[in-house]
Amino acid sequence: MSYKTFSKTPDIGESRVMIDCPCCGGSQFKIHWKADQGIWHRCLSCSLILQNPQPVIEDILERYDSEYFEYETENEDGFLNLMLMGLHDVGFSEWDSLDSEDKSFLDIGCATGRLGAFLNDSGWNAQGVEVCREAAAYGNKHYNIEIFPGTLNEACFPDEHFRFVHSSHVIEHVNRPDLFLNEIFRILKPGGLYYCATPNCSGFQAKLFAHKWRSAIADHLCLFSKKTLRLSAESQGFRVLKTKTWGGLGEGYAPAFLKKAADKLVKPLGWGDVMMMVLQKPSDGDS
Ligand SMILES: [Zn+2]
Repeated sequence: MSYKTFSKTPDIGESRVMIDCPCCGGSQFKIHWKADQGIWHRCLSCSLILQNPQPVIEDILERYDSEYFEYETENEDGFLNLMLMGLHDVGFSEWDSLDSEDKSFLDIGCATGRLGAFLNDSGWNAQGVEVCREAAAYGNKHYNIEIFPGTLNEACFPDEHFRFVHSSHVIEHVNRPDLFLNEIFRILKPGGLYYCATPNCSGFQAKLFAHKWRSAIADHLCLFSKKTLRLSAESQGFRVLKTKTWGGLGEGYAPAFLKKAADKLVKPLGWGDVMMMVLQKPSDGDS
């Protein structure tokens, strides 16, 4: 099953600002894609694809309103399954056997908190952060999880607080992924892991559809390749442990037999439409 990606049509009055490249600090950009929903530039130094100028954070946060909440609640079962499949594929299940005090887990952009609640039901200690206040309130009321309503920075978690951090389809929505990664690094315990899932702009579908790629939408401020996500993470001190990609062709773009073949083919090549990178905060003494 595949899901329509949510995106709001930006308000005409939104303010925009130019930023230096959040991946390498570069300041020279070239137009990469002109799409219906926006213009993406490519950093001439590292090849990060980004909207620049980008909408300011105050306007971005306005987009995650009741319409977004509705989209999240309608799809929450499907999204939970996709997240569990992704985590399983990169070996997350091996941590089930840890002692409960080592099972601290933060899900950033957790929507109604289904993933964290699922883990809490099996002995984990998971919390969530969610900018859509309606989704956070709904999850706090209905599911077995505590969700902070606001941004990761506003949550002000203590240093070295979590053994595991997860975000699924979030890093491409944030204004400054460098600061986002830096904050995750701060709140992770040494040796802790960050599971980051995001669209893969070095994948087959991005190459095939270019500016008509399903992830070239207004809410995606940065689009990462395996290379630029690695570079962004390493420049904040993370070590990349594993990268996996999924998805050859979206449903409806090709006959079923072709989709099946494409799904199988892209995986070993790393050309899948979505990727998950497992990042580690090194322990003291790690080289
Ligand atoms: Zn750059």
